[in-house]
Amino acid sequence: MTRSETLFQEAVQYIPGGVNSPVRAYGSVGMTPRFIRQAKGPYVTDVDDNRYIDYIGSWGPMILGHNHPAVLEAVTKTAMDGLSFGAATEIEVEMAEYICGNVPSVDMVRMVNSGTEAVMSAIRVARGYTRKNKIIKFAGCYHGHCDAMLVKAGSGVMTAGIPDSAGVPAGCTQDTLTAVYNDIDSVKAIFAEFDGQVAAVIVEAVAANMGVVLPKAEFLRELRRLCTEHGALLIFDEVITGFRLAFGGAQEYFGISADLVTYGKIIGAGMPVGAYGGRRDIMQQVAPVGPVYQAGTLSGNPVAMAAGLTQLKILKETPGIYSHMASMGERLFGGMKALLRTYGKNQPLNHTASLGCMYFTDQEVYNYETAKTSDTEAFAGYFRFMLEHGIHLGPSQFEAMFVSNAHTEEVIDQTLDVVKQYLESRV
Ligand SMILES: *Cc1c(COP(=O)(O)O)cnc(C)c1O
Repeated sequence: MTRSETLFQEAVQYIPGGVNSPVRAYGSVGMTPRFIRQAKGPYVTDVDDNRYIDYIGSWGPMILGHNHPAVLEAVTKTAMDGLSFGAATEIEVEMAEYICGNVPSVDMVRMVNSGTEAVMSAIRVARGYTRKNKIIKFAGCYHGHCDAMLVKAGSGVMTAGIPDSAGVPAGCTQDTLTAVYNDIDSVKAIFAEFDGQVAAVIVEAVAANMGVVLPKAEFLRELRRLCTEHGALLIFDEVITGFRLAFGGAQEYFGISADLVTYGKIIGAGMPVGAYGGRRDIMQQVAPVGPVYQAGTLSGNPVAMAAGLTQLKILKETPGIYSHMASMGERLFGGMKALLRTYGKNQPLNHTASLGCMYFTDQEVYNYETAKTSDTEAFAGYFRFMLEHGIHLGPSQFEAMFVSNAHTEEVIDQTLDVVKQYLESRV
């Protein structure tokens, strides 16, 4: 038995499913998880000393590659002065100034500890500000695991085969209205039916929790227009897209301003951090200045802020990072597409910037329903082949591949070679 298998046997006795987040489970690919011991640049190494080229990147945060020396140094230096004070610190001000100074739509920001918390809080603020209750979300978009958002939630919930979640009272989701991604008429219909009751529309501008689904032309612009017209706030959930599609996230990438934005993942550089921010008049609703309560013992933790701020500054201030990731994304995903064509496969491969997903269907994927046509058994076979040949992918059809700044042409070409071998083995 490998060390990973031994650890998994122990893990399942003490941790539900042996994992602390369902997306780490290998159930849907018919395997048991590889336990990771160490990571560097584009690689992760498991406890049996197998090294893999990594396309998970901790689900996004490791955009500079694993264990970036400057981030590591910031963390160790800051930790020397104490791990947490539960009191105001200078680095929180620096972090907030940096985000507000570099993301035009964000005048004020509040730090939290996860993407889930960021979304939960942003929704509360939207409701408090508009004095309305209904929230429109899209099927297949994941916004963390707060009760109100566990409706057609994509990602781990998709392959776990749980329609929603047990333990969520109907009362918690009765104000959650589900629209169809890329279908603006479905949003118009909801606004018409619930006229004057919608507090906010929340969307992943690029949906990256049902694989990767790109917004069609005008979809986001129409959402913006409808929200303004109906007095609802537009919330961009940028937990994946923020600081990834561009420094200014999907807002910059698509040239659209949201009223509230949520962050996570990259903003913490691998530490547990989330944030939400937006227009000053909206953010002034938050306690202690406003009536919307939201708090956190470890929020704005100095070590986490040091990690996140260091990463953000490198992303913003190093020329060529986003163009390198875009060109590595193009090399990888464009290369995979070319291979699929060569081997006569019709499978769609959706990608933009450093995010991509290959689906096992012959249908175009543009929403939750079409994503679900994917053959998850076929994905499982592909996943196993890739893993056995040194490529670490998310263990589900509905996860994105994340390219980092540490991925080089050489590493991408090695990956393409394995994809080629896989396709060859299927002939
Ligand atoms: C990961 C994710 C979340 C939840 O973030 P956690 O830190 O896992 O709580 C929310 N929204 C999106 C778009 C995500 O990808």
